[in-house]
Amino acid sequence: MKKYWNPEIETDRETLNRIIKRRLSYTVRYAYNFSPFYRELFDKLGVKPEDIREPKDLLEKLPIITREDIINAQPPLSNSFKFFSAPPGYGFTRPYTSGTSGSPKITRRTFDDWDSSRERCARGYTMVGILPTDVVLDMLPFGINVSGLASLFGFYRTVGAEVITLGVSLYPKKTDIFSIHRPTVIFGMASYVDRLARELKLGGLDTEKLGIRTILVVGEPSTKEKRDRISEAFGGAKVYDWYASDEGDVMAVQCKPNIGSGNENDLGMHVNEDRILMFVINKKTRSEEAKGNVGIDVITTLLDEGEYSGMVLLNYSHGDQFAIISTDTCEYCGRCLKRISHPTRERDEILIGPAKLPLSDVEAAINSSESRKYLTGEYEIVYHFDEIDRLYKVTIRVDTLGSVEHNFKQRIANQIRDKIFAANYPISVVTQQSQIGELNIEVVDEGSLEVYKSPGKPRRIIKV
Ligand SMILES: [Zn+2]
Repeated sequence: MKKYWNPEIETDRETLNRIIKRRLSYTVRYAYNFSPFYRELFDKLGVKPEDIREPKDLLEKLPIITREDIINAQPPLSNSFKFFSAPPGYGFTRPYTSGTSGSPKITRRTFDDWDSSRERCARGYTMVGILPTDVVLDMLPFGINVSGLASLFGFYRTVGAEVITLGVSLYPKKTDIFSIHRPTVIFGMASYVDRLARELKLGGLDTEKLGIRTILVVGEPSTKEKRDRISEAFGGAKVYDWYASDEGDVMAVQCKPNIGSGNENDLGMHVNEDRILMFVINKKTRSEEAKGNVGIDVITTLLDEGEYSGMVLLNYSHGDQFAIISTDTCEYCGRCLKRISHPTRERDEILIGPAKLPLSDVEAAINSSESRKYLTGEYEIVYHFDEIDRLYKVTIRVDTLGSVEHNFKQRIANQIRDKIFAANYPISVVTQQSQIGELNIEVVDEGSLEVYKSPGKPRRIIKV
């Protein structure tokens, strides 16, 4: 079994730095030559590709590009796809993002992009210890999205595991899949894998005894509490976070400490630095955050010399929030790739006056070891701003496992509210001491949330 998929890049800092520098120079020239968006931007700013020599030049000389820039530069808002960068004949597929938080972004991928994806997935699979004897249940969506195909291409002639490409299909029955194929690994969105455990239990399977070793969760920020909940449901399977996007491909994978390294803790995620140049910046000052401080992501997708990419991105921000934890060689797995904390999403938060309530605080409260015994883990937030009274009304709705008595529901609601207040002091102030907002917790019977009615990625915030 391989310990590293690509030891040269994963364990040798000097080689890695040389590769990053070479790829940066090629990528910037490539963007200027082939991406109408970047050519216009460079010309408008008077910046030449050769002005960008070092990673920090990107931050100093270019503005930060956002999802709105991509949407504005694609049909119907633009006559053409200004971010598409490969010449005709090089494009292969045009995947869409899910569009949960607005219009979908349309991306373009060449064979080189898929090859890069395959290599990054193989590295991640090796990192979390997937074996040729594993049977993987792949529950990522196949079709118009990147994730299903990327995960599958990643397995193609790499680690040797066999894949059941279930995707988000409703058939065959999931209980049959488990009894017939006996998968040992699950790859899916955290909320799907969590729902899967409940569905299997309702179907009469003891999920703790299915023999699942490893679970990879991707596609939405997940809290440690949510990952712990999934691990418990599958009998202590190791759950690893996988950080990827349609624009940035596989960016980071959670470190798995070597057996005997003396650490079983969550050590954060290793970044594929040869493919993703990643900064964490302070949103106001735009300067780099010090190690350990949470800021906003700014990435550049690096191409190897000679590659053609369908959509190259320089200085792009997903609006994800995390910190760089370490840039030293990891003492637990030996990788030289820098480590980041688990990302959360900037737009996954709601405002109650001046106070922010991130969805991760809500998730942590409802998946805490006390609450998760009684709740499905699903939730939705009904958000209303009363213009006349200038009052924010926020209701977090959660559902119970089975049905429970009214008084017990009230106890669970109080428990959740206390957890949120303990984690988030500003929210407790604006909703308790001042007259700015109300925070209500509504506990309902299993299955009565709106979130169950729409397919695809769950929409957590309902504005009314
Ligand atoms: Zn490590």
